[in-house]
Amino acid sequence: MPEARVLFTRDDLADGVARVGREISDAYPDGVLLVAVLKGSVPFLADVVRAVDVPVEVDFLAISKYAADTGRARIVKDLDGDVLGRDVVLVEDIIDTGLTLTYLLGEIGRREPRSLETCALLDKSVRRIVPTPLRFRAFEIADEFVLGYGLDFAERYRNLDEVFAGDISVLRDDPDAYVHQLYRG
Ligand code: 5GP
Repeated sequence: MPEARVLFTRDDLADGVARVGREISDAYPDGVLLVAVLKGSVPFLADVVRAVDVPVEVDFLAISKYAADTGRARIVKDLDGDVLGRDVVLVEDIIDTGLTLTYLLGEIGRREPRSLETCALLDKSVRRIVPTPLRFRAFEIADEFVLGYGLDFAERYRNLDEVFAGDISVLRDDPDAYVHQLYRG
C-alpha cells in the first residue's frame, strides 16, 4: 500500500499561520483586504484571518485553467467588491510555476488597488517558471506533490488538517490511493 508522508503537522501549520498573521498585521496597521483564491486557500485563509489583529475584510475569486500546465487561466467567480484604492493581499494555497499568481496579479492590478501583495501557505520555488513576488509565505517546500489543509487531488483530501506529501503517479493511477491511510473507515 502506498503511504503519504506528513510534511507539516498541525503545530507546524499553526506556527506558520501565526507568523504570517503577525507579518500582515505589522504591514497593514490600518487594515487590509484579503482576497482568497478558491478553493485550496480556504483553510489557510480561515486561520490567517483570525491570526491577524488589524481590521480585515475578505473576498473570494475562483479561476479555472484552460489546460493543464499552460498557466492560461480565466476568472470563473469574480470578487464581490471593488479593490480600487484598497490595500490588497492575494492569498493562495501554493505557488508552483507562478503562472496562476502572475495572471491574477495582472487581473487585479488593472483594477488599481492602492497596493497589491501576495501571500501563500506553500512556496515550491524550485519549480518557478516566471519570477513571482511573494511577500508573505508560511513555508518553502521541495518539488513534491502535497495534499491536505485545502490542497486536493481530484477534489479529494482538502479536509485533512495536516499537509502530506504524496506520489503524483500513484494518485494519477488511483485518486483514492491514500484514502484508506488518511481517513477512518
Ligand atoms: P502555478 O500556477 O503556480 O503553477 O500553480 C498553482 C496552483 O497549482 C495551485 O493553486 C494549486 O492549485 C496547484 N498545485 C501546484 N502544486 C501543487 C501540489 O503540490 N499539490 C496540489 N494539491 N496542488 C498543487
